[in-house]
Amino acid sequence: MTPDYPVTLDVRGRRVLVVGAGPVAERRVRMLRASGACVDVVAPRATDGLRALADAGEICWKRREFEPGDLTGPTRAWLVHTATGRADIDDLVAREAQAEAIWCVQAGDSSRSAAWMPAVGVGRGDADGLQVAVTGGGDPRRSVALRDAILVAMETGDLPVTRIRGTEATRAERTGRVALVGGGPGADDLITVRGRRLLAHADVVVTDRLGATGLLDRLPQRTRIIDVGKTPGHHPVPQWEINEILVREAKEGQFVVRLKGGDPFVLGRGGEEMLHCAAHGIPVEVVPGVTSAVAVPAAAGIPVTQRGVTASFVVASAHDGPEHVLAAARSAAPDATLVLLMGITRLAETAAGLIAGGRARHTPVAIVESGWTDRQRVTTTTLDRAADDARAAGARNPAVIVIGDVVTVRHELQALGALAP
Ligand code: SAH
Repeated sequence: MTPDYPVTLDVRGRRVLVVGAGPVAERRVRMLRASGACVDVVAPRATDGLRALADAGEICWKRREFEPGDLTGPTRAWLVHTATGRADIDDLVAREAQAEAIWCVQAGDSSRSAAWMPAVGVGRGDADGLQVAVTGGGDPRRSVALRDAILVAMETGDLPVTRIRGTEATRAERTGRVALVGGGPGADDLITVRGRRLLAHADVVVTDRLGATGLLDRLPQRTRIIDVGKTPGHHPVPQWEINEILVREAKEGQFVVRLKGGDPFVLGRGGEEMLHCAAHGIPVEVVPGVTSAVAVPAAAGIPVTQRGVTASFVVASAHDGPEHVLAAARSAAPDATLVLLMGITRLAETAAGLIAGGRARHTPVAIVESGWTDRQRVTTTTLDRAADDARAAGARNPAVIVIGDVVTVRHELQALGALAP
């Protein structure tokens, strides 16, 4: 197929005639006005929107059928659109335009005109100033669908819309800033749209390889990645040093994204990082994330609350020993779901303490490892057997441990065939 030859037109101050005044014509008129054209409309009837534009003096509406001569008088049209919904009139307009050597866009049938409109969209926010035009394939709805997908991808940061020209020169004078971005529990598409967009614009990404780390492979080449997480055989970078990295990079004028697993403010030390930045005068913002405390049970078909089962849940870290978990469980409702993060290593003591504190031995337990990743694994057990079963299964971090009757919802879903076994 011979490809089209795309050009764009500067219509500012030029006279454009639009024949027809239905919804298609109205869309064209609005775009033409936005592009600065002087628009005349010829049609016996018009949409409410076009009437309003005419009343406001934005366009000139001749309230009658098209007549030969409209193209050239009183002033000659520079471009004409015809969208009357009637092939005979559209053809007539196109023929006259052809004879006068005026470009004519025939909305009803692009194959009959020498010029046509692509599906057009204008970028917003960071994509400001960018315009997308999709054409070809003889299937306008296909072009529109592709245009919409491109606009969404521009807004979410999936497409590189960051300005490149000029930014290198000004980097030194720019004030740096930090965004603490919650990356969600692990799947690349469980980060928020805002988080994804900021990630795409980061100069530096500080990550500990928990959460949406698959996105790191898709960052622009210029983005610097600093890994402060645990790697085999290496110790993690201590928190004070992470804090200092954030401040140092921002002071050099960089836009720093601190990518964190789940939500930055849930057992993620995001609060400390934010305070540290603020104390050093660095502009800092937080972008919430989908916390693993709620989302990882969900990945296993377990709602943390369920009508008739429990109306509350407690999230606790077992990192510093079972005492915190036991204290949290004591002050919660007896039926509250317990969600333990970092709970694998001290599970035996934690479970024993909970039983000693009054939780039933047969309380259902689910251990969900690497939720929302292709390594996800779920072990279901009961409180008295949890530590043994976890050991036998070789359960490892990262894992979320759910304790409570809500775990039975998973079994119900399985019985209904709604979950993979
Ligand atoms: N801020 C994070 C939690 C950080 S603490 C959040 O809101 O999710 C790290 C702990 O979170 C891990 O030890 C584990 O208990 C839990 N975790 C995070 N992501 C997980 C995942 N994909 N699967 C299972 N557990 C996860």
